[in-house]
Parts: sequence; C-alpha cells; structure tokens
Amino acid sequence: MKLREKRDRQLAALKPLGELINSEKCTDWLAAELHAGSSPACPACGKAPTGSTLEKLQEGHRIRCQACGKGWNIWSGTLFEGAKITPVDFILMRVGLAGGLDFTGLMELTGRHAQCVTAWTKKIQEFDSSQKLGGHDGPE
Ligand SMILES: [Zn+2]
Repeated sequence: MKLREKRDRQLAALKPLGELINSEKCTDWLAAELHAGSSPACPACGKAPTGSTLEKLQEGHRIRCQACGKGWNIWSGTLFEGAKITPVDFILMRVGLAGGLDFTGLMELTGRHAQCVTAWTKKIQEFDSSQKLGGHDGPE
C-alpha cells in the first residue's frame, strides 16, 4: 500500500473519533493520569484543595490555593500546563501515533501546525514512557 493511501485510510478511521469522544471524560482521564491517581495538590506548597475549591478545580477552573494563595489549575505542574490543544486532541494524537500515522497525517488529523505537532509528539512520548504499557506485573 502506498504511503498516501495508508495515511488516507488511517485518517478516515480516526477523524470521526474527534466528534465521538466525550470531551469531559477525556479531560477527567488525562487529569487523573497526569496526577498519577493521587489528588491534585498546589504546585507551590503541596496543599491539596478541599470542598468547593476542589470541585471548582475538577470543573476546570483556576483556583487560589487555600494555604499559600497561589493561583493554579488542574494542569499546573503537569506536561499539559499551558497546552494550546484540548485533551481530545491529545488523545487523538496519541492514538494516531500508536497507529503509526505519519507527521503529515497528524497535522491533518488535528488541524495543527508542524511546530505544534512536533512539540506534542515529544510530550506524548514522554507521557507514554511514564505509563506502564503492556506489562503483566501482577497475577492475572
Ligand atoms: Zn499553595
């Protein structure tokens, strides 16, 4: 199969996912993964938010630390801090990369510039290497 044809097939399979994926679930999943299952804590002092402040954080709002007053959000201190892409784009790119979609295909899939795709390809590799992939560590 020619490269262009392969890419077109991959894109035809992947593009509808952008519309089908639940944005809220993507955000929740990515935040939980980036915080490694522990509750998010202030990047400045380490104090975990509680009550309505925690709820606001989980809804995606920027909060003010109850202990030190620093403003931060759910992505602060993670590789998604300051990201210009959405969690849905992150998941799409990650699936595209895992499926062997080439650079041009990734740009087409997400509608992002080369610089952005280059940066996120690196960050996704960083993210993947911090995950336990395909291991059978425990008893089945
Ligand atoms: Zn703090």
